This record gives sequence, structure tokens and C-alpha cells, in this order.
Amino acid sequence: MLLDHLQAKLDDLRAQSLTRFTRVAETGTAPRQIVRGADGLARELLMFCSNDYLGLAAHPEIAQALAEGAQIYGGGSGASPLVSGHSRAHHEVESQLADWFSPWIPNAKAIGFCTGYMANLAVVATLGDAQAEIFSETLNHASLIDGTRLAKATVTRYAHVDLEDLRARLAASTARIKLIVTDAVFSMDGDIAPLPGLLALAEAFDAWLIVDDAHGFGVLGASGAGAVEHFGLRSERLIVMGTLGKSAGLAGAFVVAHATITDYLLQAARNYIFSTASPPAVEHALLTSFSLIRGSQGQQRREQLTALQARLRQGMTALLDRHPALPWRLAPSSTPIQPLIIGGNAEVMALAAALEQKGLRVPGIRPPTVPKGEARLRVTLCATHTNDDVDRLLAALEDCA
Ligand code: PMP
Repeated sequence: MLLDHLQAKLDDLRAQSLTRFTRVAETGTAPRQIVRGADGLARELLMFCSNDYLGLAAHPEIAQALAEGAQIYGGGSGASPLVSGHSRAHHEVESQLADWFSPWIPNAKAIGFCTGYMANLAVVATLGDAQAEIFSETLNHASLIDGTRLAKATVTRYAHVDLEDLRARLAASTARIKLIVTDAVFSMDGDIAPLPGLLALAEAFDAWLIVDDAHGFGVLGASGAGAVEHFGLRSERLIVMGTLGKSAGLAGAFVVAHATITDYLLQAARNYIFSTASPPAVEHALLTSFSLIRGSQGQQRREQLTALQARLRQGMTALLDRHPALPWRLAPSSTPIQPLIIGGNAEVMALAAALEQKGLRVPGIRPPTVPKGEARLRVTLCATHTNDDVDRLLAALEDCA
């Protein structure tokens, strides 16, 4: 019965061109990777799909720090943080993050998690207790949405980047605790949330602003601290979640906020308390990653990303001008996430397959990840791409157009 039931669902997904599959990567990420295709053959692809925006995952100093961390600590952490899994390296990562974010968050303290998904579940579900109302942005990441599902709070959704809609909903609320929850950089669109306006609303309505900066940390701001640095915000009401598997090139996540908030998460966040701490060697290597992000190499890589973005947008705009009959649309993004909205599921998958034939991997993103009729190529840039790489993508898109 169960197998028939599931097979019918799988058949339905196939009929809608919504089947997903994993592919086997034989080498590390960014920007060229040996990948085994559905035909079982391994080939080198130029990747425009990694979130390793600074190209640090393949940085030799990170690999060396990981090896050194393994020499010091061995493999796994062996237990949850409150039992015995919290190493000196975990402690250092948290205290460096608290120090790094202190210009934007007074009384900042940080707490580490194994993944961003877990950190988002923790912060939203734990702070969103029965006395709270959560104001959740419509295009938030799935992990924030799942956090609201676990929370005991009332959940109200507000329209994408719509400050007036949010203001009206905050004004109508009688909740004692109000939590505004938003992505900083929207992962499938690449646009940046209007954080100064959101923070002003938080101040005006005695609310708190939870910011998921998975895609801004490392990329935005002079030191790479992300969206709060980019906008120069400063408030105790800021609760920032950042991931360490994207720009930081490793794995893990953190929440940085007023110390009372992180102290409470340590006491009450179930996925912090009941889950094995991340491998200490990863934390040890994160210390190297942080100094790369904050140092001159990080700065140069952020500048390179900005230049690549401009080149890609210019080329794509010219391409769309040459083909006015095409329904394709370039999303208004100023980040390394540069989506090209195509429309139908089958069309976007055919385009992604045609690009792969040309040796380029650009993933097609379909509903439910994005709205129906807005399937898209999600192009992501890395600082280790070259101008020639971008030109190769533009030429391949021109052929397909
Ligand atoms: N938030 C956003 C906006 C993300 O894009 C992601 C990862 N796709 C996450 C959270 C989850 O982070 P992690 O991959 O570390 O679980």
C-alpha cells in the first residue's frame, strides 16, 4: 500500500517535470568540478550553482587548517555541546563572532549550530513561544517557515519587502512579544530585504528583527559581516543567523544577538541541546576562514564578485534586448545570486540540460521552491570565476536563446 501510494506521487512529480535527483561530484567545489551525470559518465563542468561565494571551500589554507584540526581533536565531537562536545575551537568561533558583530549588535554573544537549517528552527521555534506573534516575510527560506511551524506563536505573513503591509500587521497586533523574521538576501531571487525600514518598524512597534543572512555573510559589508554591516545598522533588537557552509567555505551556522537571547537559546533550543556538536576540526578551520573573510583576501574576493556581477548583468541585459520575443526576465539582484526567470518547468529543465551539454552547470529551480510559472535558472557567482567564465555562460545562453 505504502509503496503504491509513494509511486503514484513519484509518477505525478515526473508528469509535472518536478522530479529531482542528486549527482555525484568527484572533486571539490568552485568553479570547475568533475561531476557524474545521469548517464554515469564523469565530466568537468563549469559550475554556476555553488554558494561558496568567496571560493574558500577550495582554499589551501582551509584544507590545511582542517587537517591541523583533525590532528588536534580527531574526528567527531562525540556529544552534544552541553555534555562534552563543546571544544576550545567551538568556544573561539563563538567569541570571535560576538566580537566581530559587536559594532552592530550591542551586548552581542554568539551560539553555534551544526547547520543553518537547525539554527533557524532553533531561533524561530524557541523565541516564538505562546506569547509571541511572528511576522514572517512571504519569500522566507524553508527552514524559517519550518521554524514557524514548530513555534507556539501566532504566525502572520507579510508581503515580500512590503514595509507598509508589515506596518499595518504590526499595528493590528496585541501580542506581548513581536518577532519580525526575514531572509537578508532572498535565496532564489538575490534581492536584499529593506533591513533599515524593517528595523525602524521593529523599534516603533517594540518588535525584534530576526535576520537570516545565509547569503550575505562573507559577501556583504566591508569586513564581510553581512547585511547588518552593509546597511550600518545598530540595535539590540537585531538577531542575526549566519551560515558557515556558504561563503565561509566549511559547515555550520551561528546566531548572534543580545546575550540574554543566546543564553536563553542555550537553555531551551531543543536542536542545540539534543544534537551532537559539529566536528571540532571544522570549527578550528572556521577560525582560518574568518581571518580570510575579514582580511585583504576577503576584501579582494568581494571586489571580484562585484565586478563579475556587473559583467554578467550587462551581458544578460544585452542578450534580452537582442531577443525581445523571449519571455525570459533578469531578476533585479545586486548580489552573487543572479536568477534568470524562464517560466515553465519543462522549459527551464530543457535549458539547464542544454547548458550542461555545453559543459556548464546552472540549476533549474522549480515550484514549490519558487512560485508556479516562475521557474528559473539560478546563476550564482563565485570570486574564483573569471571574466572568461562569465563570457562562456553568456555565449551559451545566446546559443540557447
Ligand atoms: N537560510 C537560507 C536563506 C538558505 O539558503 C539556507 C541554505 N540553503 C539555509 C538557511 C540553511 O543553511 P544550511 O545549508 O547551513 O543548513
